[in-house]
Amino acid sequence: MDVDTRLAEAWVRAMAAAVEKEHGRLTELDSAIGDGDHGSNLRRGFTAVLAALDAPDAPAPAGPGAVLTKAGSTLISKVGGASGPLYGKAFRAIGGALPQPGEAPADAAGLGEALAAGLRAVRELGKAEPGDKTIVDAWTPALDAYRAAVAAGGGLPEAAAAAAEGAERGALDTVPLQARKGRASYLGPRSIGHQDPGATSTALLLRALAEAVGRPPASGAL
Ligand code: ADP
Ligand code: MG
Repeated sequence: MDVDTRLAEAWVRAMAAAVEKEHGRLTELDSAIGDGDHGSNLRRGFTAVLAALDAPDAPAPAGPGAVLTKAGSTLISKVGGASGPLYGKAFRAIGGALPQPGEAPADAAGLGEALAAGLRAVRELGKAEPGDKTIVDAWTPALDAYRAAVAAGGGLPEAAAAAAEGAERGALDTVPLQARKGRASYLGPRSIGHQDPGATSTALLLRALAEAVGRPPASGAL
């Protein structure tokens, strides 16, 4: 299985569907340690992403990278909260790291490199380290699990399923952490004992990738 335009679109649509389904939960988590807008921020963003994909005058995307780049640019322009620019830059980086039209399509290892570029973009913009109770805490174990699956000979379905499970574990593991970045950090030790909204949405977005490749993880414990 390669990362073609159809798969990129399926991933983006699965992300939008997940956000539509879970925005209430994300907002609830953000109400506990933030300002209660994470779900509505992402919902506004992904509604615009779908509208951009489905616009009658939209040109056919020039390859899978263009799909992710467009999704990222749309999130940057439509989402005001911290998560818009962070996810926007991440998806633009993923899009930029994928092969361009005319080049051989990415396989599982290639998408792993693109996911790594996405995490680098989040870290460059947000300056968060692992353990700061952010998006980074889901994306990092997801990438580790993805790479381990590829190293063990897994293809895209196995790697994506591993990433989804890694991200979910990472999101659950943010509960005991004290936030050191973003709004939740203003609470100091009172941020302890709550699951981070952004790490939770990262788990949803990576579960969407597993769904798009036909391997939704069994647990879904978020
Ligand atoms: P805002 O905090 O502006 O209201 P959102 O509510 O949409 O934005 O997103 C909050 C989430 O953004 C947090 O739960 C956290 O995971 C993530 N986040 C905040 N700051 C950073 C950062 N510097 N690096 C990575 N992720 C961050
Ligand atoms: Mg918020």
